[in-house]
Amino acid sequence: MSQIDYTTHGEIALIIMRNPPVNGLGLELRRSVCDGVQRAIADGAIRAIVITGAGKAFSGGADIREFNTPKALAEPNLLSVIRVIEGSPKPVIAAIHSVAMGGGLELAMGCHFRVASPGAQIALPEVKLGVLPGAGGTQRLPRLIGLEPALNMIVSGTTVLSEKLAGTRLFDEMIEGDLIEGALAFARRALLENRGLPRVRDLKVSHPDAQAFLQFSRNTVTAVARNFPAPLKCVEAVAASVGQAFDDAMRVERALFVELVQTPESRALRHAFFGERAASRVPDVLEDTPLRTIASAAVIGAGTMGGGIAMNFANAGIPVTILEAKPEALERGMATIRANYESTVKKGRLSAEEFARRMALITPTMDYAQVGQADIVVEAVFEDMGVKEQVFRTLDAVMKPGAILATNTSTLDVNRIADFTARPQDVIGTHFFSPANVMKLLEIVRGAKTGKDVLATTLKLAKRLRKTGVVSGVCDGFIGNRMIEQYIRQAGFMLEEGATPQQVDRAIERFGFAMGPFRMSDLAGNDVGWYIRKRRYAEHPDLVYPKIADRICELGRFGQKSGAGYYRYESGKRDALPDPVVDQLIADHRAQIGLKPRKLSDDEIVHRLVFALVNEGARILEEGIALRASDIDMIYLTGYGFPLHRGGPMLYADQCGLYNVVARMQAFASNPHGDPAFWLPAPRLARLVEAGQSFNA
Ligand code: NAD
Repeated sequence: MSQIDYTTHGEIALIIMRNPPVNGLGLELRRSVCDGVQRAIADGAIRAIVITGAGKAFSGGADIREFNTPKALAEPNLLSVIRVIEGSPKPVIAAIHSVAMGGGLELAMGCHFRVASPGAQIALPEVKLGVLPGAGGTQRLPRLIGLEPALNMIVSGTTVLSEKLAGTRLFDEMIEGDLIEGALAFARRALLENRGLPRVRDLKVSHPDAQAFLQFSRNTVTAVARNFPAPLKCVEAVAASVGQAFDDAMRVERALFVELVQTPESRALRHAFFGERAASRVPDVLEDTPLRTIASAAVIGAGTMGGGIAMNFANAGIPVTILEAKPEALERGMATIRANYESTVKKGRLSAEEFARRMALITPTMDYAQVGQADIVVEAVFEDMGVKEQVFRTLDAVMKPGAILATNTSTLDVNRIADFTARPQDVIGTHFFSPANVMKLLEIVRGAKTGKDVLATTLKLAKRLRKTGVVSGVCDGFIGNRMIEQYIRQAGFMLEEGATPQQVDRAIERFGFAMGPFRMSDLAGNDVGWYIRKRRYAEHPDLVYPKIADRICELGRFGQKSGAGYYRYESGKRDALPDPVVDQLIADHRAQIGLKPRKLSDDEIVHRLVFALVNEGARILEEGIALRASDIDMIYLTGYGFPLHRGGPMLYADQCGLYNVVARMQAFASNPHGDPAFWLPAPRLARLVEAGQSFNA
């Protein structure tokens, strides 16, 4: 079915692209545009053609629904469409409004003329998916706006408003008023003035010292884009626009594009892009599930987490009341919120007015009567079932009917918490990560009785709070912390076997993690894990735990907050310094358990840590705690500092090949010191290997 509206206006044909929501250039639209242009060419009464987009975009570029399908590459591909347009014997004018990005902008640059409304978002964002514009974007943009601005746009993928580009050759005219009327008038004038058929490909890129500028760009980009190959390839593609014949340069662009598509980094970026979208979909919660209104919020507890959570609501413009049990705690909490905002103002990232507006949205209280009318309440009190029970019984009594009762617990059973109320369908876990006003991840814990509308509303709320919401079932630690526990156990085993905290941290940080396990533990507080382990020892006496972590805690070395942990810290500083006391403690412990230290390679360290995550991730999938492998990856990318260029633990395993992952795990299991049970492949993993499949099909 045609995806264009074709009408004639005197001597001018008007083609309006129509493929909601953003006129993505899928196969059907590409075909339709070619047909429309051919039809106008064939019509003797027509002398010029205007192309524009219906609805809220000129065109947003490739149709992401066709990604990784044969349709994405089927003819006419975008290059062929542009060839038809550029080769038209009648001038083609692009009339741009709202959004012209990626392939949409490339199509416009293939036209003979372009007119635009102010406020249109112009970008070639391909680099963000680890590729480059592959339909002439790297060749035509420098010809139209100049080498330097074009290179900046292509390497960064940033959006520029059309009016900022007025005066360049990208736009022949800016149109204030009705765009279509303006474009038709422009077309008539172009005919009258005999402006011919200017082709962007025939322009020359001029720059006073192009080679020096390009070399400077290579150096800068190499330094900044360390883990990603695409930005540097963008520079190479743009460099080809200088001096080379257009068709030769197009071949360079194509070759670089093909090279990039196959890189693991590009696969990782595309995985994260689609993973973010997939995470908001829950199979049994339909798109049209009615949502509850969230116009006001309350937070119980103004400690580390409560304050940050309240800031999230205020940042999104949602008024929030924050309740504490003790006046001094309330005062401290409010002071921390204020100080956080003030530091953002100082850094120039928040205006004084906005600061005042956000503070005014936060109301401190000690009185439950003041929170009862909130649409959602998030509990962030001590991690203690007794305290949670008391708070939830109170909330059940005071909250208006229909309010969502959320808990920020990181380890407790959300189903038990829900059963403290007479409305378990309204109870849900919203597991924020610290610092809650900064971290992108929101683990949304769906209890056995959580209402579908409550889940759908919370997923929507995550977007309003600018978080990546990922759904987890109820289990100890939910998805993220349940996996990290296995990773930390492995890290501990490796200390016993011969590694130092520095070596483990350095190895995994070189792999790309923001922070290794021991620096992370020192930051979060070693006592937190100790508290959880004591519970584990009682609940699972069969589980083997490395014991150095306990020895560290027994010395009161809780990490940064106590000035010492796995490292030592100088007062007021956060640098993790090696500590001979820890080296001695580890040596004594090894002697005590009769273990002769051996040298571990960085490769062993990295893969024992990462595959520990993968194996537990596979169990979590099998149990249905996570809905899909990409959800696990999104949790690790947005909440645990897993390197983006590797796409998360499950995609990393896929890219290694699951057969190889299991082979490696079998080798780890033969380690005489290790816990062989640890490396028993999870059933899901074993089955996938058997079937020759991967986590992310
Ligand atoms: P915190 O000790 O910093 O803050 C808890 C606050 O709750 C204190 O200010 C305390 O005065 C207040 N409080 C205690 N009982 C109360 C009651 N009955 N009524 C009102 N206020 C009460 O603790 P936190 O680190 O903010 O943790 C809060 C919750 O968030 C816990 O469930 C924790 O497991 C979870 N969590 C913490 C982190 C983290 O990194 N700290 C991360 C994710 C989740």
